[in-house]
Amino acid sequence: MKRKALALLSGGLDSTLAVKVMLEQGIEVEALNFTSPFCTCTGKNAGCKSEAVRVAEEFGIPIKVVNKGIEYLEVVRNPKHGYGKAINPCIDCRIFLLRKAKEYMVESGADFVITGEVLGQRPMSQRRDTLRVIERESGLEGLLLRPLSAKHFTPTVPENEGWVDRAKLLAIQGRSRKDQMELAEELDVKNYPCPAGGCMLTEVSFAPKVKDVFDHSDELNMRDFRLLKLARHFRLGKRTKLLVGRNEAENNALTAQMHPGEATVRWLDGSSPLGVVMGEISPEILEIAGKIVLRYTKAENGMSCTVKVNRSDSEELLSVTNTYSEPEIEQFRV
Ligand code: SF4
Repeated sequence: MKRKALALLSGGLDSTLAVKVMLEQGIEVEALNFTSPFCTCTGKNAGCKSEAVRVAEEFGIPIKVVNKGIEYLEVVRNPKHGYGKAINPCIDCRIFLLRKAKEYMVESGADFVITGEVLGQRPMSQRRDTLRVIERESGLEGLLLRPLSAKHFTPTVPENEGWVDRAKLLAIQGRSRKDQMELAEELDVKNYPCPAGGCMLTEVSFAPKVKDVFDHSDELNMRDFRLLKLARHFRLGKRTKLLVGRNEAENNALTAQMHPGEATVRWLDGSSPLGVVMGEISPEILEIAGKIVLRYTKAENGMSCTVKVNRSDSEELLSVTNTYSEPEIEQFRV
């Protein structure tokens, strides 16, 4: 009887190889790909999702794409196992994904789950002890096969039952990707633009932005996190942010994500980036927003300027003096 594996497929090299190793053994594979606002795996215009879809198409296997959703944001906010070097809750993240995989495994008729995890490759989530914790807490004990490092672990159910041939599994470990590159060559796996996968939660400079949203939100929503990849961010109040586009593409993306009642702010008399005020808005807030937007124009210091404020149902002109110094601007920056 042909057995089926459910694969966590990010579109990166390791998970791609794990799938290929299973296919080579005649195992049926279905892929599961998770998206989140923190994915950075961008080959030109491609995100992790499209990379995973591309790999699945190339291998001719079905793929289900799932958004990690608000539930995941709560994991990022309060990880039981703590953070890595930035705000990356890698252990809890893996447990979260594998629990979802376990649920879907039943629905998809798969017999076990595979991942591209490699022993010792990532300092937090791929140590021997944490890999064990992840397996246990995901509820997949015995049913989680890591084909690239399988020979370093106790045999799993699929190996013991003879569904997969342990002799043909790998014993890769460590941070170098040399073995994976060689395996890719051997298995004729090409076009992997995202060898390590990308996650903004691991970036130290990104962490304050995420934390700022957590600190100022009672209820989390995906848009607040999606927007973190765009524009310059300024915190103007507990419930108010100003986002200033850095180029035309960002201005357009910001406009597209606005909600009714939110306001755009631009200098009327010269070239100006787009400022978008989100949250609670007052005349004082609009004046601060105007002054910050003027910082990114050619308006001279001390100049009296006209700032145009647009909301979905109104337009007003404000007189704003360009007085903010750099430190004054910085106090608002997230
Ligand atoms: S790097 Fe990001 S996506 Fe990967 S396990 Fe860590 S938190 Fe999750």
